[in-house]
Amino acid sequence: MEARNFIEEFINADLESGKISTTQTRFPPEPNGYLHIGHAKSLCINFGIKEKYQGLCNLRFDDTNPVKEDIEYVDAIKEDIKWLGFDWDRETYASDFFEDLYNMAIVLIKKGLAFVCDYTADEIRATRGNLVEGGKDSPSKTRSIEENLDLFARMRAGEFPDGSKTLRAKIDMSSPNMNMRDPVIYRILRATHHRTGDTWCIYPMYDFTHPLCDAIESITHSICTLEFEDHRPAYDWFVHNCDVNFVPHQYEFARLNITKCIMSKRYLKKLVDDKVVEGWDDPRMPTICGLRRRGYTPHSLRDFCERIGVAKSNSELDIRNLEACVREDLNANAIRVMAVLNPLKVTLTNYNENSETLTVANHPGNPDMGDHEVTFTKDLFIDKDDFSLTPPPKYRRLIKGGFVRLKGAYIIQCNDVVLDEKGEVCELLCEYLPETKSGSGHTADPQFKKVGTIQFVDANNAYEFTAREYEYLLNDEEFAGQDFSERINTDSMHEYKAVGEAYLKDAQFGSRFQFMRMGYFIKDEKSDTFGEIVSLKDSFKL
Ligand code: ATP
Ligand code: MG
Repeated sequence: MEARNFIEEFINADLESGKISTTQTRFPPEPNGYLHIGHAKSLCINFGIKEKYQGLCNLRFDDTNPVKEDIEYVDAIKEDIKWLGFDWDRETYASDFFEDLYNMAIVLIKKGLAFVCDYTADEIRATRGNLVEGGKDSPSKTRSIEENLDLFARMRAGEFPDGSKTLRAKIDMSSPNMNMRDPVIYRILRATHHRTGDTWCIYPMYDFTHPLCDAIESITHSICTLEFEDHRPAYDWFVHNCDVNFVPHQYEFARLNITKCIMSKRYLKKLVDDKVVEGWDDPRMPTICGLRRRGYTPHSLRDFCERIGVAKSNSELDIRNLEACVREDLNANAIRVMAVLNPLKVTLTNYNENSETLTVANHPGNPDMGDHEVTFTKDLFIDKDDFSLTPPPKYRRLIKGGFVRLKGAYIIQCNDVVLDEKGEVCELLCEYLPETKSGSGHTADPQFKKVGTIQFVDANNAYEFTAREYEYLLNDEEFAGQDFSERINTDSMHEYKAVGEAYLKDAQFGSRFQFMRMGYFIKDEKSDTFGEIVSLKDSFKL
């Protein structure tokens, strides 16, 4: 099978050499927040391998830090993965393996490869050295195996206060790799775990837990982001020394970074806690549930991950790449309707009928999507932006004395303008040209060649609603490395008292439309508004 990226090249080689007969990957979230678009990328890689090679992929919750983890996050993560359309084989938890991990730590102690250290966290930090200098051995490092076994059992039994001792691997305090300087593998922490309750008062650390869970689950390709490259020697060391039955390997790829997007659960949680946004699923959030509420489709997110590929070096991708993917999906599938966000009243002074019914295609490029009816009377709304008293050059919308075509209906001419007490335009008095009805072939008249087309809403049959438009949560970076909290856009949501054609009255929550000439919108249940998913056009090409 042709490799789509360097990871698949490794897989192909492993399959060809007979090293493995099938692939087994895993997606290992820590349940300390909601998934974001970066996780979607990791999901697409891990589950993409499962689908391509007909292998297996587990969902493993990496739950070794009870203080920050919660069942709320476990449930949300599962919901998001299902929504993206992925099915995991086994659902596992690092905490399922706490007993196995404990026994593997004992294996290390018995081999003389781990010791109980009396240092506090501060003392460990102070003796670790730095990038240019090696660290110093802990005085506890010379303890006998018997003493270590005894102390470790007593750590588990709860005889020592939190933070007073750790279990550390005996590797090499002079290693140039900081992760190899006798890393802590167990710490004492009295915290109620969301699954194991108060069973444990010692918890294993990531560098020890992750490779060994991979080994227990027979993960053939343990795929993670580049910042773990420096952890790979520790990964291999633990796998090598803990007498596992299966040897997994770690592969690193570049994490996804997107302009104007905060891609860290910790910071996203801060936005939620500080009430900068309405919640994890706020439509401005780059979380999966935020993007879902915003109107992104699973297809558009997976398409995005597919197109950006899997790279070996970090970079920042323009957010317009992501927007282009959902726009493309919606352009093909969203029903077209007419709505205006800033209604301006139009009265047709010469329209004598009560009303008539026009037919508008649901999608101009796809007749299979059918059409729907739009009513037309003498009282209409157009958007304030489609009229100008002081038009710039080449303005093709309505001006005093000028013409414009109402989409699917007639050409109208504006004869007079009514101003309110503030001097602002509040109504247009217009005449319609009966012979210019859409579909009558009249548009060929050279007089009307340059007439623009705008959308309208019948005021006698209008659906009133609140529309929302969003801006990015982050302003542009002013200087390199500027902290995101100084870049928060405090005015990123705008609401409008909008009107739309009656067809929208029956729209289900979650349905998506193209509001002609404006953008794509979704009916959002939580806010009971129509929120903008993405604008109509962008000059950016993917
Ligand atoms: P965060 O920094 O947002 O908390 P994390 O890496 O701590 O992210 P985990 O729950 O540990 O989050 O991540 C689960 C998996 O998703 C890991 O394999 C991780 O490497 C991957 N992942 C996380 N963020 C990204 C990203 N931006 N791009 C690609 N993969 C990511
Ligand atoms: Mg993490």
